[in-house]
Amino acid sequence: TSAGPTVFVVYGASGDLAKRLVMPGFAALAAAGLLPDQWVLIGSGRRATPVEQYREHVRDGLQEFARGKNGVTDEVIESILPGLRFAGGGFTAEDPGELLDAIAAAKDEIGSDAQVVHYLALPPTTFVDYTRAIAAHGLAEGTRVVYEKPYGTSPQSFEELDRLVLSVFEEQQVFRIDHFLGKEATQQLHVIRFANRMIEQLWSNEHVAQVQIDVPEVLGVDDRATFYDETGATLDMLVTHLLQVAAEVALDPPADWTSDALATAREAVLAKVRPIDPDEVVLGQAVGYQDLEDVRDGSSTDTFVAARVWVDTERWSGVPFVLRTGKKLAESHQHVTLVFKRPLNSPQKDDAAAPETLTFTLSGNGSLFAGVTARRPGVSDDLVPGNLYLDLADLPNAEPLPPYAALLRDVLIGDRALFTTSDGLRDAWRVAAPMLDCRPQLHPYEPGTWGPAEAEAIAAPYGWLTEHPRA
Ligand code: NAP
Repeated sequence: TSAGPTVFVVYGASGDLAKRLVMPGFAALAAAGLLPDQWVLIGSGRRATPVEQYREHVRDGLQEFARGKNGVTDEVIESILPGLRFAGGGFTAEDPGELLDAIAAAKDEIGSDAQVVHYLALPPTTFVDYTRAIAAHGLAEGTRVVYEKPYGTSPQSFEELDRLVLSVFEEQQVFRIDHFLGKEATQQLHVIRFANRMIEQLWSNEHVAQVQIDVPEVLGVDDRATFYDETGATLDMLVTHLLQVAAEVALDPPADWTSDALATAREAVLAKVRPIDPDEVVLGQAVGYQDLEDVRDGSSTDTFVAARVWVDTERWSGVPFVLRTGKKLAESHQHVTLVFKRPLNSPQKDDAAAPETLTFTLSGNGSLFAGVTARRPGVSDDLVPGNLYLDLADLPNAEPLPPYAALLRDVLIGDRALFTTSDGLRDAWRVAAPMLDCRPQLHPYEPGTWGPAEAEAIAAPYGWLTEHPRA
């Protein structure tokens, strides 16, 4: 499938997200030959900016963040620049600035039936105003709109925003980004599962004892402290990325392989996630966090969260999904691990021995490995752990795309399988509500550790499985 002529409007074009993720995603699509034959990209902003200056800004950003990756060369970068325009003067319901003229000019260039995509790479506090402005200037009908996260920062603000958005757009026009769903390995989860009997048959509470979704980060909050201090690990990661990935793991077989059926299956499983019991949550804050510039005095923001989540479907009833993420931890990785029950009659009699596991690594190009038990080679009865390993980038003709490129491509062709839905997000807030209403105690932890010691019990009896030799 390829998209027809497209006018792509990036609101907040001067911002950090546009520079680090959206434009590099666009460039990766250009390199892969996946952009529409005809397109114009209009950067929108409040300052009057000559188009040459905007092109220079984009060139600098792409040289820093895209060049050398995913086939993006200097030639690819230069090939994008002529398609860029800039519309200054901001964009409000009262005053469209230069944007209406810029869209009209773009349509004159590439055809009046060109599709229009609105990409809101804007601070979330402005989503309401920009949505109103799009409606006020008659730009909603027949277009697509992309919202960054966070799409609401509380159950109430989510409902308010979503009500407005759905009064302006049809749900089918709305693309809410959760970039974890755009990761190659996340997209492969259900494919590898359903295409392989030896995996599919094991994918249930009959064989799986626990599911771990573990996304620790070595980095701190860096220069995003102001944003982070109002958000924290629970809102930034747990109720968004980790819960969506949990749903992706837990979904029941979709009715068919269309994007709608996949999104519906994910939504159906989110509807069955039990509200999180605050007693099954451990929150932490890295020692030293409060000393950061831009962090409020006495801040109680969580920089770590571990939680046990229950999916009340027939397939998963009784299996804890344990979710963990945090800043300033011992190691960075993004692992989804199924921990299997011990086989009946196993020669392995040691209850403390490493369990059998299947792990998807979500970072980078993604990989898959199975932790198995074998006999120590030689004259021995000892049992030792071993690993079977698949790097997804080693698959034949692999041409992996970074998540933002994959998601942009889906927006261009109107495929919503990897986007969150209104009902799915409502369920995510329902699941999080008890721990937001009755906030668990905050435990301090030393940077460079695995977070508060109390979090270990969340993943009992195995503990967090971090020893993956080739991850
Ligand atoms: P940002 O740099 O703070 O803002 C983006 C741009 O929005 C600004 O450059 C500004 O451009 C424009 N803007 C328009 N109206 C504004 C207003 N009333 N107040 C402030 N700025 C306004 O934000 P960002 O870091 O790019 O993030 C954009 C979105 O992506 C957010 O929803 C964020 O949560 C999400 N996100 C960001 C990252 C990241 O790594 N940065 C990662 C994931 C998600 P003009 O001054 O030219 O108008």
